[in-house]
Amino acid sequence: MTSKKELIKHWISSGIITDKNVVGAFKNVPREIFINENNIHEAYGDYPLAIGMGQTISQPTTVMMMTEALELNKGDKVLEIGTGSGYQAAIIANIVGKKGKVISTEIIADLCSLAQKNILKLKLKNIKIVHCDGSKGYKNEAPYDRIIVTAACPKIPEPLVGELKENGIIVAPVGNMNEQIMIKAKKNKGKLIEEKLGHFMFVPLRGKHGYN
Ligand code: SAH
Repeated sequence: MTSKKELIKHWISSGIITDKNVVGAFKNVPREIFINENNIHEAYGDYPLAIGMGQTISQPTTVMMMTEALELNKGDKVLEIGTGSGYQAAIIANIVGKKGKVISTEIIADLCSLAQKNILKLKLKNIKIVHCDGSKGYKNEAPYDRIIVTAACPKIPEPLVGELKENGIIVAPVGNMNEQIMIKAKKNKGKLIEEKLGHFMFVPLRGKHGYN
């Protein structure tokens, strides 16, 4: 059984985590709150776990790498596509702090309620969960400093580029339904400058700019 401490120690010693705010967030947010009770002993196993409705909570290392890639600052306004369990949203909320805000969109109503329940336990007040097709963006709160897509997309959804601030960063797994490359992109003069962060496997993005 892997503990949270061991997982963080492994990340630090292998040099894959460098941002101390990201380390802090992983220490502060208990993953065990976000998983099914019958998986509780596996909370810090480095693999995804089923959360119901055919969806998963991502592997801890993936959550950590995406969080690092976002280069978050206190006060940032962040849009997430794919709330799932709410774990990734809680990690981000912990870093952006009281003056920042996370708007997390989820297309499955039951997962919105699950995530809401999980987040209530942590008393995090800077997360707003919205039941909608996040592939179309979320105009009401735009523009965003950072955008994170936690489902596999065929390409970076166009509306998200529009809702990202100049110099903002978007992180998204782009590819086919079986394998994706993590793209980290910075908006420069309205266009995205892309960087590739390696291969990943996510559940598919649905909706208008997803696979169906
Ligand atoms: N970030 C989550 C894991 C995401 S799994 C966590 O920390 O637990 C991907 C999620 O994206 C699933 O819950 C799925 O229902 C959701 N999803 C898929 N397409 C979507 C869309 N178009 N808009 C919003 N959510 C979507």
